[in-house]
Amino acid sequence: MFATAVPSLAVIGARVAGCALAARMRRLGWQGPISLWESGRGPGGRASTRRSRHDAHVRLDHGAPLLSISSSPAPAVLAPLLDGGWIEPWGGGLAQLDAGGQLITGSTDPLTHGDLYRGRGGMDQLCHGLLELAGSDVELHSQCLVRDLAPTAHGGWELLDQQQQRLGAADWLVLSGSLLVHPRCRTMLGWPEPPLQPLARTLGDPQLERAAAGSAAIDSSPRCALLLLIPPAASWWPTPAQLWPGSIPM
Ligand SMILES: Cc1cc2nc3c(=O)[nH]c(=O)nc-3n(C[C@H](O)[C@H](O)[C@H](O)COP(=O)(O)OP(=O)(O)OC[C@H]3O[C@@H](n4cnc5c(N)ncnc54)[C@H](O)[C@@H]3O)c2cc1C
Repeated sequence: MFATAVPSLAVIGARVAGCALAARMRRLGWQGPISLWESGRGPGGRASTRRSRHDAHVRLDHGAPLLSISSSPAPAVLAPLLDGGWIEPWGGGLAQLDAGGQLITGSTDPLTHGDLYRGRGGMDQLCHGLLELAGSDVELHSQCLVRDLAPTAHGGWELLDQQQQRLGAADWLVLSGSLLVHPRCRTMLGWPEPPLQPLARTLGDPQLERAAAGSAAIDSSPRCALLLLIPPAASWWPTPAQLWPGSIPM
């Protein structure tokens, strides 16, 4: 039994997974309020593009540079994203840097198979487009870290901040990131335990316990990502025209 007639949904994480979920739920007819809670500055996250404050032409992808669709038929969300101008087909080339520093044209990475698209103006446009499809009544709470969760008397969830103050509540909760359930929060944030673990134990819900244990078991180790800007005039690497004769890569 929910607190309200129309159940509400809170999604933790407003990046590709969280935004796609919100868009999909609307498409499936979810009528209730949807709120997204994101510790980062805005939607996009590891699939976003950083812009330089000093030079409008300088853009660096923070994570995934392309969206690759290999399923057939393509997901229903693809056409409205294209029609809305949020994404566009990728017409440029692909190249890989091998361990010896050689730039190799083409890609053997299975993630680049299928039809390739890119956010128009930056990869985070994909998430902005998904949020647009989810509707104007979606509440986005950026720069908002959910530190803890508490079950409510009505079977819903309260979202709490670092001071255990209530940020919001919802009947249904989806975690699109694993922070609240993965032991890396101990080393990353100094938390004594992933917050969902004790809850899963006390709620006595075997499905939740299994999901929490499965997420906690995901191997995780820190990685450094080098965002490298290659000047177009660099003589030690081939120019775009040499790499992709006849095409104009971005
Ligand atoms: C350098 C780099 C290159 C990459 N290249 C590729 C590539 O070529 N191809 C590819 O497919 N993928 C690539 N990736 C990976 C890809 O970007 C990610 O897998 C994808 O963006 C993950 O999306 P997601 O929504 O599942 O998760 P995330 O982007 O991790 O989103 C989860 C979000 O939840 C938020 N969150 C979690 N817990 C809380 C909380 N308690 N309170 C508030 N917010 C919370 C986090 O802040 C995060 O923003 C790359 C990643 C990096 C870093």
